[in-house]
Amino acid sequence: MKTRVLIVEDEEPIAVLLRYNLEADGYAVETEARGDRVEQMVAEEPPDLIILDWMLPGVSGIEICRRLRAREQTRRLPILMLTARGEESERVRGLSIGADDYVTKPFSLPELLARVRSLIRRARPDLSDRLLEAGDIVLDRETFRVSRASRDLMLGPTEFRLLEYLMRSPGRVYTRAQLLDGVWGRDSDIDERTVDVHVGRLRKAVSTDKEVDPIRTVRGAGYAFDERFGALKP
Ligand code: CA
Repeated sequence: MKTRVLIVEDEEPIAVLLRYNLEADGYAVETEARGDRVEQMVAEEPPDLIILDWMLPGVSGIEICRRLRAREQTRRLPILMLTARGEESERVRGLSIGADDYVTKPFSLPELLARVRSLIRRARPDLSDRLLEAGDIVLDRETFRVSRASRDLMLGPTEFRLLEYLMRSPGRVYTRAQLLDGVWGRDSDIDERTVDVHVGRLRKAVSTDKEVDPIRTVRGAGYAFDERFGALKP
């Protein structure tokens, strides 16, 4: 099960940007532009986190926040508030309305994504620590299983660690030396070509001929878990 994020934002470009990037990070995302639909959506299927804009048509983000906090079922639902510059008043600063965190627009995307991850980690340590998900791939750190499109993948221990390492930071390019450090350990006395061999094995285990290869070779640099892969529909 993916971690579910509800984005409540009436500025479409922001909602689209957030959706794209959160999906690439492995979250299941829903968006809503009107404040007066949120309570019902949350009651029907509670998300794991809400990104809530301050000014919304219908009911304001502040009012939604207050109402969600007043109800037992949503009292502890993580809420990340978005505010425009200037709205960042003392009221928000004190987070007296009950939001867990807030970000001022225009925001830095990596920072916002980091806050989302940290709020979810705080609220659902079981979920975020255990599973890494991107697109149709799910890696379970507890059972050491990896599946793709619901079929179990057979990975050796090194390929498992390599995939886990790459999946932790989608889009980040690692050099062979960094992968040796991170996956094999700092003192390992292994040739960098070993990395290529294991990446090759990992690729074979993860993708059939018809499937998209989630691992990107960056010529002259190294390897990355493709950040666009997570946005693919399983
Ligand atoms: Ca707005």
